[in-house]
Amino acid sequence: MLPLPVLERAASEMTDYNGSGQSVTEMSHRSPVYDKIIKDAEASLRRVMKIPDNYRVLFMQGGASLQFAAVPLNLLGANKKADYIISGQFSNKAYKEAKKYADAAVVASSENENFTYVPKIERGDIREDTSYLHICYNNTIYGTRYNYIPDTGDIPLVADMSSYILSEPADVSKFGVIYAGAQKNMAPAGVTVVIIRDDLIGHEAPTTPSMLSYKLMAENGSMYNTPPCYSIYMLGLVLEWVEETGGLDAMKERNERKAALLYDYLDSQDFYKAPVKKEFRSMMNVTFVTGSKELDAKFAKEAEGWDLYNLKGHRSVGGMRASIYNAMPEAGVERLVEFMKHFASENS
Ligand SMILES: *Cc1c(COP(=O)(O)O)cnc(C)c1O
Repeated sequence: MLPLPVLERAASEMTDYNGSGQSVTEMSHRSPVYDKIIKDAEASLRRVMKIPDNYRVLFMQGGASLQFAAVPLNLLGANKKADYIISGQFSNKAYKEAKKYADAAVVASSENENFTYVPKIERGDIREDTSYLHICYNNTIYGTRYNYIPDTGDIPLVADMSSYILSEPADVSKFGVIYAGAQKNMAPAGVTVVIIRDDLIGHEAPTTPSMLSYKLMAENGSMYNTPPCYSIYMLGLVLEWVEETGGLDAMKERNERKAALLYDYLDSQDFYKAPVKKEFRSMMNVTFVTGSKELDAKFAKEAEGWDLYNLKGHRSVGGMRASIYNAMPEAGVERLVEFMKHFASENS
């Protein structure tokens, strides 16, 4: 979901942005009016996430999935070693992509228990001469999240935060690179946000495509070519909404309340099961199953009759998944719990 006030504002500005006589979808990305849009979006992101001055913000394309390649290409350096923690499907995809370029190693995995937890690692588990450690901070498909930040010492920590970014405050200074596709908590698909510490820019492999070069993107203010203009504009509106509604501290409080509604209900009954270990429960993606494929399918179908959509679990795991990103109102979660109770009483 995107926040309704943001969609309404975008609708009202669709044919004439701020008296410019043009739609954002039409204007030149080199025009002064668009220049202000992209600069304001970056400034808002810096304020909202308290991004330190020695970090650059890049607006790239290709989704988080293209960052799976961009990260090794830009960060590997001479020894070509990269360490990965596998905590679900996206981190596994990132690892597989890195293997094309790197001596990539899996330092920990939670596959042995079907990704129902996040591996705990210590400094000694990482190779001393690895170029970075890659993690996926919130595992969208399985509904788990890190409840700690791995200590990597001087080794850069790289995090895919696609389904976590802007859900609560995060200490950017603990990470070398943070990246996130827009479409979970930030904007419609199109822009991919990369937040990178200055000193990690400029070590790319010579074969790195220009469009994946952090250096080139940084030097050109994310406008080496035409950026995903509209998605960046929407990101700006979403960030304004985040600031107006109290910033990330308030966001965290609301998100905790929403998630608690679901988890408290799940813990109070035995019709549904929540497979994730409690200390790793995601605040954004809540997964549960009935134990019967037929009932799971029936659940997702009947939920639509209650105006509750997209509850089917990812095609690779089945069951149900409630993605309750920032823009999902508390009333939406309350309605889901109401439906879950109704469905349980009808089917048990
Ligand atoms: C959705 C998602 C992706 C894939 O994002 P794209 O922008 O579609 O490439 C990658 N990682 C995580 C954690 C995600 O939630």
